[in-house]
Amino acid sequence: MSVLEHMSSAEAIELEAKYGAQNYHPLPVVLKKGEGVYVWDVEGKRYYDFLSAYSAVNQGHCHPKITEALKSQADQLTLTSRAFYNDQLGPYEKYITEYFGFDKVLPMNTGAEAVETAIKLARKWGYEKKGIPANQAKIIVCQNNFHGRTVTIISASNDPVATENFGPFTPGIVSIRYNDIAALREAIDDKTAAFLVEPIQGEAGVYVPDENYLKQAYEICREANVLFIADEVQTGIARTGRLLASCGNCSCPDKNCSGKPEVKPDVLILGKAISGGVFPVSAVLADNHIMEVIRPGNHGSTFGGNPLACVVAMAALDVVREENLANRADRLGRIFREKMQEIIDESDLVTLVRGKGLLNAIVINDTEDSSTAWDICMALAENGLLAKPTHGNIIRFAPPLVMTEEQLLDCIQIIRKTLDSFRK
Ligand code: PLP
Repeated sequence: MSVLEHMSSAEAIELEAKYGAQNYHPLPVVLKKGEGVYVWDVEGKRYYDFLSAYSAVNQGHCHPKITEALKSQADQLTLTSRAFYNDQLGPYEKYITEYFGFDKVLPMNTGAEAVETAIKLARKWGYEKKGIPANQAKIIVCQNNFHGRTVTIISASNDPVATENFGPFTPGIVSIRYNDIAALREAIDDKTAAFLVEPIQGEAGVYVPDENYLKQAYEICREANVLFIADEVQTGIARTGRLLASCGNCSCPDKNCSGKPEVKPDVLILGKAISGGVFPVSAVLADNHIMEVIRPGNHGSTFGGNPLACVVAMAALDVVREENLANRADRLGRIFREKMQEIIDESDLVTLVRGKGLLNAIVINDTEDSSTAWDICMALAENGLLAKPTHGNIIRFAPPLVMTEEQLLDCIQIIRKTLDSFRK
């Protein structure tokens, strides 16, 4: 493999173009190494990572505590499947359920799998507990959602790029406007099993709903005996300045807190940062009266709950607490938005900054189908900071939460300088 050691960015990109399915459109940067908030490309150039693998690397790249857990478990036992017990799954299940305050967890690997799991769980609960007539259960979702890429999940999408020529789609999905309480009230009927929602719509461009939206939606669901499912694959694990974005107005950014959250989802979906980006780990959490509808053979995955995943997730969740990452995301996020607002006040290139904690986006003064956001991201990369547009005119900024204030201010300087170069 020595040839790889000397591979240039151009050569690596050419290989992917030739041999890989073209299902992504990456920035032309080939990364080789990561540490904390930094990544390095194959030519040795260092960048601030301002995407964190879509919020999977909240704990920073190659966090030593997490990689150590991976390495030591890798020498012991990696996979048994669930045909047998393994000695890490039970301790992990105890750990994660206590951490998030639920009775039970169903372990999976990717975010999309966890969303699928939650949908299956909700349907089964709908038939067996709520009494919905067979095969008529409905799941309400929100327009412009992003829950992943499986057929059922794209059946809930209104993004033509995700859906075109992938039909026929899964029935039983009702789509309503995000952040619209009246629409939710109207959409619910006797056949509604669940409302599936992102507390902040990340992929859509970091849309933060109105202050009381989640709480009101949660209460409506409760009254109507409808499961409130929070997809916190992107927003969870301290990213938004709280352990979970659905914690609502709970006043503590530091979620060692065992205080009562405003919203406790009936079903919580987690992925990405549960492993600090070290290994694919996802989870669906719920209390007994919901999770008990799942019985042997109903659902599973060869890798779900494997010992490597369990130790990695426990280490990654430890780091979130030990390094007070929710608190840090809350504090740095405020500084970030304040400084972005200063830039907005000085020029008309950027019209808006929005977000919570360290999940933020800026909106560029151009059309959705323009290439301005892409061009700005290319220039940011040139200046040593990696970010990715979510649309032609929206750039998401989501650095690892282990960033220091000094590093953040350095990044803000890079962003300011780059944006200045785009002013007409
Ligand atoms: N749900 C949300 C809110 C997401 O942001 C994502 C991925 O970005 C997913 C689900 C899907 O996760 P995965 O890519 O691990 O399947």
